[in-house]
Amino acid sequence: MRVFRLSCARGHDFEGWFASSDAFERQQSAGEVACPVCAENHITKLPSAPYVNTGARGGEAVPVVAPAGPKGPDLAAMLAALKAHVLSSTEDVGRKFPEVARRMHYGEETERGIRGRVTSQEAVELEDEGIETVVLPPGIAPFGEVH
Ligand SMILES: [Zn+2]
Repeated sequence: MRVFRLSCARGHDFEGWFASSDAFERQQSAGEVACPVCAENHITKLPSAPYVNTGARGGEAVPVVAPAGPKGPDLAAMLAALKAHVLSSTEDVGRKFPEVARRMHYGEETERGIRGRVTSQEAVELEDEGIETVVLPPGIAPFGEVH
């Protein structure tokens, strides 16, 4: 990984992590590097940071993120693990999710992990009743279509 000191057109200094100089230049020219303070994407590179460090130098370091390079975390593997966990620890109740969640919430049914599908309206109604639901990212929720 390389750390670059960057500056936006409005003069905010920040650090960005990139797989390589080429990766930085490619993302910069594609407008994908944005200032974490003002989201400005006219970014210039200041003289290189002399060492790899996330610590602040003359000011608080601000959080930045750059797309993972080839050696970045394997998001696909992480999602697969999450999917396996969801599938093994919850019961698929499909479109009956709001109904089953309510029965559990009001003690009419044994509490357990369930998965299924709700509309955004149903999710809001459940939240109003104090029932928490977690929206899963697409690709890990191939369930709840039927029932
Ligand atoms: Zn800025």
